[in-house]
Amino acid sequence: MLVTAAVRRAAGARLSPNVLRTRSIYLERSPRFAYSALRPRQDITIPNLFTKKAFSTTALKRDAKPTSGPAPSGPTKGSSRFWTFLKYGAYITGSTIVGCFVVTGAIFVHDAFTYTDKHIEGVPIAPLALHPERGGPKNLPIVTSYLSDLEDSENTELSKKPHLVIVGGGWGAVGILNTLKLGDYHVTLISPETYTTFTPLLPSAAVGTVQVRSLVEPLRKIIARLHGHLLNAKAVDLVMSERLLEVETISPEGEKARLYVPYDKLIIAVGSTSSTHGVPGLENCYQLKTISDARNIRQRVIDNFEVASLPTTTPEERKRLLSFVVCGGGPTGVETAAEIYDLCQEDVMNYYPKVCREDVTINVIQSREHILNTYSEAISKYAENKFLHDGVNLITNARVSAVTPHSVIYTTRDKSGKTETHEIPTNFVLWSTGIAMNPFTKRVSSLLPNQVHKKAIEVDAHLRVKGAPVGEVYAIGDASTIETSIVSHLLELVDEADKNKDGKIDFDEWQVMVNEIKKRIPMSEEHLSRVRELFDLYDSDSDNTLSLNELAVLLQEIGNKITALPATAQVASQQGKYLGRKFTKIARQRDVLTANELLGPGVDEAVSSPFKYMHLGSLAYIGNAAVFDLGKISFMGGLAAMYAWRSVYWSEQVSSRTRALLMIDWVVRHFGLRNQRKWQVRDKNDRSKHIVRRHTAIAGHTDLMLAAASVFKQGAVYNVLYALSGRSGHMSFRDVFSLSLSSAHAPAFVQYKFARPALKELQMYNFTL
Ligand SMILES: Cc1cc2nc3c(=O)[nH]c(=O)nc-3n(C[C@H](O)[C@H](O)[C@H](O)COP(=O)(O)OP(=O)(O)OC[C@H]3O[C@@H](n4cnc5c(N)ncnc54)[C@H](O)[C@@H]3O)c2cc1C
Repeated sequence: MLVTAAVRRAAGARLSPNVLRTRSIYLERSPRFAYSALRPRQDITIPNLFTKKAFSTTALKRDAKPTSGPAPSGPTKGSSRFWTFLKYGAYITGSTIVGCFVVTGAIFVHDAFTYTDKHIEGVPIAPLALHPERGGPKNLPIVTSYLSDLEDSENTELSKKPHLVIVGGGWGAVGILNTLKLGDYHVTLISPETYTTFTPLLPSAAVGTVQVRSLVEPLRKIIARLHGHLLNAKAVDLVMSERLLEVETISPEGEKARLYVPYDKLIIAVGSTSSTHGVPGLENCYQLKTISDARNIRQRVIDNFEVASLPTTTPEERKRLLSFVVCGGGPTGVETAAEIYDLCQEDVMNYYPKVCREDVTINVIQSREHILNTYSEAISKYAENKFLHDGVNLITNARVSAVTPHSVIYTTRDKSGKTETHEIPTNFVLWSTGIAMNPFTKRVSSLLPNQVHKKAIEVDAHLRVKGAPVGEVYAIGDASTIETSIVSHLLELVDEADKNKDGKIDFDEWQVMVNEIKKRIPMSEEHLSRVRELFDLYDSDSDNTLSLNELAVLLQEIGNKITALPATAQVASQQGKYLGRKFTKIARQRDVLTANELLGPGVDEAVSSPFKYMHLGSLAYIGNAAVFDLGKISFMGGLAAMYAWRSVYWSEQVSSRTRALLMIDWVVRHFGLRNQRKWQVRDKNDRSKHIVRRHTAIAGHTDLMLAAASVFKQGAVYNVLYALSGRSGHMSFRDVFSLSLSSAHAPAFVQYKFARPALKELQMYNFTL
């Protein structure tokens, strides 16, 4: 019966007679499979498990159609959705719970292996590491052996390798450390700081947008990969003839001591200081180069706002305190001005009396016609318009002539060329007008007769310090500049190219010479592309050869056209990586190089081509907007550009720890909480200011506290809070009443939570208003 009915139904499903016959035979033998055998063929295809349809209720319904009798009363559409939802809800909850258990378990297992008793007794130490021998020109201790040199077999082996000493712990040094391979060199890092700093975000740290700990990474952690050594000291002198670096250490008590660190290869990566341009009074300025600079700036900015918020501060003094002057319209100056503007728009607006925001002036003094003048014209214009819109005062074509403790004096020229002097009263000046030589760089430069550059040590295209023993001393980053003068190589170039030795260069010889120039000074490449044109242009007597005088003029003019590489993190990092790769090659090919007698002065040329800089673009933050100069393309804009700017810096972080911290900082900043807990407290005076700040800075609560104090008739509390709030008029009864109503239980809570402790603390520190 069932079989016949099924066959009949199948006929209704338009199956061919042959198929029907075959299936009815099959069904008679196995009636159990009546349904599946008689279904139209497309119905028995295997459902695609990866599509929604595989699990959909409609698919189930379609499958149910051919069954005999009335349609089974299955679940309704709504309830089946509910069950699906429940099922997946259960899956997700279950996997979350399992995931939590797994992660917790993994943490336990990790901890179990991390906190083990390590064997530290009886670790061998070389006698020379405990009692270094004295020597060198100043008879100082010479560090030939380190405390951890014999710690294990790996370190023992490393101590026999060539000694590579890196001076500085910034972008350049980290570039090398991250590129070197373990086992090639005995590495020593000399740095007065134990951490490396992500300098591009220092302006953000200076106003608390990001925390300083998000910008620093311990150098010991970085160098541990190479089993290297960190000497917390600064380099002060160099004895190139004996390959000894003189360093100075400072004990916790402030006692200074000097010692020599021997090297086989030395890399100078000590960065730069700010140039002064001979302006008097720079001791009244802040600089922004290090973490402590950022901390000091933040403290001064906050102090200025605190004192400006006091009712006892006169309006003129408030205006002076809230006048911020940035000298220099380069990226650092512009970014710092933008960050101060952000601070004023966010935290100051929320937590300080509105009059403080009203009295803020931000001034940027720039000696050139435009700010960000190393960027494209479009970018400069965009940044200027943005500042104009934000009310940041741009003073261009102006020169700062002096800085006093209370003001900045600068001069401008009017259209007739007459000099006018101006003065801006201020209590905060940032000096950011370019770079100058670090004292150590200055010392090294003074030791070499052919070093004449004023801002950095001159290096050749292989980054070797010019004049130092070849292949022993290198310099990178802000401390160095690659030579651009071609004319200084004139005689050697002529000697090499002048094949017929007639003292003149014909066109064929000129072509040879061009190739040699490109090899020695790769930055000249783009200026030497029109070989024939140049030859004809400078062949002033048209004798089809270039005389020495003609050549000298040609090379001098080409040299003048080459622009030195900018002092940026990008350059320093690329140079560091270049040296890291080169030194690895030297170490790995040591045997071959030795066999071919190439391990001497020419080793750099043998293993690597000269350093070539690849510009990846410049960027700058200009206050909820950012600009990108990518060479031929410029990109600028508001939020989208700002997020792109953040993404670039985020991806450039040295470690995942700083990446995570940065992310948290940026998220926290969106809730208007700029790192307030970290504001420092120095002495009793500062302490009072700190209390004032803390209690008035609780967003919007000053009003509530006032209301609370008033409603609960806390006269003294009311008076103190009233004074702290820096108001210029009394709160009306209506204000107090509406505030109390709008915050139901808040007055009691706020009064108890904030007003009383505020009063107590202020009394404790004898704070008088
Ligand atoms: C506020 C600010 C923002 C910047 N923004 C950008 C940017 O957005 N993009 C960009 O590309 N560049 C930027 N720069 C420039 C960039 O930081 C520098 O070009 C880069 O740091 C240079 O790297 P460096 O390794 O030569 O020197 P640094 O990174 O300055 O490192 C020098 C190191 O040497 C150490 N040192 C100093 N003296 C001695 C000594 N005597 N002995 C031993 N160690 C010593 C220092 O402690 C430091 O660790 C910015 C710079 C600043 C200050």
